Amino acid sequence: MTRMTSFKDFTIICERIENISGSLEITQVAADFFLSIDDKELEIISRFIMGQIFPVWSPLQLGIGPGLLYTALSKASGLPVKDIIELVRKNGDVGLAAKEAMADNKKTQSTFAAFDKDDYVLSITDVYMRFLNIAKASGKGSQAARTRNLQFLFTQADQVEAVYIARLAIEELRIGVGEGIVRDAIARAFDVEKDDVEMAYILTNDMGMVARETMLKGIDGLKSMDITLGRPIKQMLAKISQGIESVIKEIGSVAVEWKFDGARVQIHKNGDNIKIFSRRMEDVTDSLPDIVGMIRNGITAKSVILDGEVVVFEDEKPGAFQQILKRFRRKYDVEIMVSKIPLQLFLFDIMYVNGKNLFNNTLIARRQELLGCVSPSATLNVTKQVITCDVQVVNDIYMMALDAGHEGVMLKNPESMYSAGKRGKNWLKVKPLMETLDLAVIGGEWGEGRRAQMIGSYQLACIEPTTGEFLSMGRVGTGITDDLLVELTSRFKDLIIIERGTEMDFVPEIVFEVAFEEIQKSTTYNSGYALRFPRLVRVRDDRDPKEVDTLERIEQLYINQKSRVDRG
Ligand code: AMP
Repeated sequence: MTRMTSFKDFTIICERIENISGSLEITQVAADFFLSIDDKELEIISRFIMGQIFPVWSPLQLGIGPGLLYTALSKASGLPVKDIIELVRKNGDVGLAAKEAMADNKKTQSTFAAFDKDDYVLSITDVYMRFLNIAKASGKGSQAARTRNLQFLFTQADQVEAVYIARLAIEELRIGVGEGIVRDAIARAFDVEKDDVEMAYILTNDMGMVARETMLKGIDGLKSMDITLGRPIKQMLAKISQGIESVIKEIGSVAVEWKFDGARVQIHKNGDNIKIFSRRMEDVTDSLPDIVGMIRNGITAKSVILDGEVVVFEDEKPGAFQQILKRFRRKYDVEIMVSKIPLQLFLFDIMYVNGKNLFNNTLIARRQELLGCVSPSATLNVTKQVITCDVQVVNDIYMMALDAGHEGVMLKNPESMYSAGKRGKNWLKVKPLMETLDLAVIGGEWGEGRRAQMIGSYQLACIEPTTGEFLSMGRVGTGITDDLLVELTSRFKDLIIIERGTEMDFVPEIVFEVAFEEIQKSTTYNSGYALRFPRLVRVRDDRDPKEVDTLERIEQLYINQKSRVDRG
């Protein structure tokens, strides 16, 4: 019998990794650990180490919210829930909060008398089984059962184990290991090529299975993995373009399609068995019987995997995205919703047909396959496509798409393969800039080199209107011309309250309008948010700093943007 690896061994590795900054070294530590455990443990650990409990494709969901986590910690530690919440706030991390809460674990009156903490060693498999119980608990009394399982883990854990149990419970391990590092560690440990590991992962969406098969069968195991109908594969993703002209300059002829404002779906048909997955790989088949019907009636191929966008129309215009979400999340009265919110499907790609994986076929060839297996109807469409290298033609299609109420256009490289899971330059989106934010400038930093005499970057803040407090959201240093920099430097010099080294605080008097790619959660700034790729659009001298965007609006934009993830 093989030795059971303790969960403690895993946490020691996590702690080590947390203190390493170089990804090569992290990969080596992970690879060494992979080699020291058995195949079943490896299946679990290759997911745990990136904060994942179940494979992405699996319908199993852990679903532990803060409420359940705090209750379990409270019961395990004997501290009231409010103290747990306070610890989380103080530490900014559930793991460190759990560590502190469990500091006096020995004093805890264990409800699990049969397992005296001192002679019970948690194994990796135990922890996984408890999480499995939590995911499987359903119906009456399930909440209590879920709490009990988590409480059990905390009661048996030492302080360091508690850190990682808490973080695993919310599926955020915070040790800087993602899919790329796990892929590289598998390759390093079992002496196979990274690309082969990557492809097996794309096809199966199951890092645990990939790791285990590689351990047991090496390259043969990897090569034997293929698409499984009914299990979602990673989708190809799009990048934002630098504009129509520059795309054509770079790739010449492009395949132009409307970019529909809807929700991405991946459809698997295996004979009569039809499954629909959302962008996040949730199985949404039961909520979309109308789409299932379209596929049953309109797809001639026996087995196929299709890529497309579901769109809702209201008075011939694309309807609000929220409407689509109402359909996707629906569990009850599904038929009523089908007639209330009718959907259309626009198919734009095909990844598999009748036993053939089409990843390595060009877009042109895949489109031929797609056209060959769809009989369009009023609701089932193949996205129209024009191949051209004429900027004017693309521009006209772009304008038509916007007029029709859609997001813009997608420009695709006609010769490109289906690069699953990749956000590459073979699918480029052209759409109007996202909305901008008006933010107060509350601080700055002297520039370097050529800009040493200038204030080169500016600390932005939104406002909490009830208290009037400005909350920082990160810096902007892009989009500022040299002339403007000179002007801004002289204006802001008069507003400096205090200087600390190269940094300074300003009286909040000037407002910047800032464009950005995305709003992200952040622990660095006290608003709790940061902007990705911010750039200055203009200085809003017509705005009072007290009228800048509020934290509430930022939160709302963040939520909208999160639900947009379903779109693609
Ligand atoms: P974005 O969500 O801005 O990253 O844009 C990519 C998303 O656009 C995809 O994930 C799809 O959901 C959606 N989309 C709409 N129309 C198309 C199309 N013709 N081809 C590919 N993706 C499309």
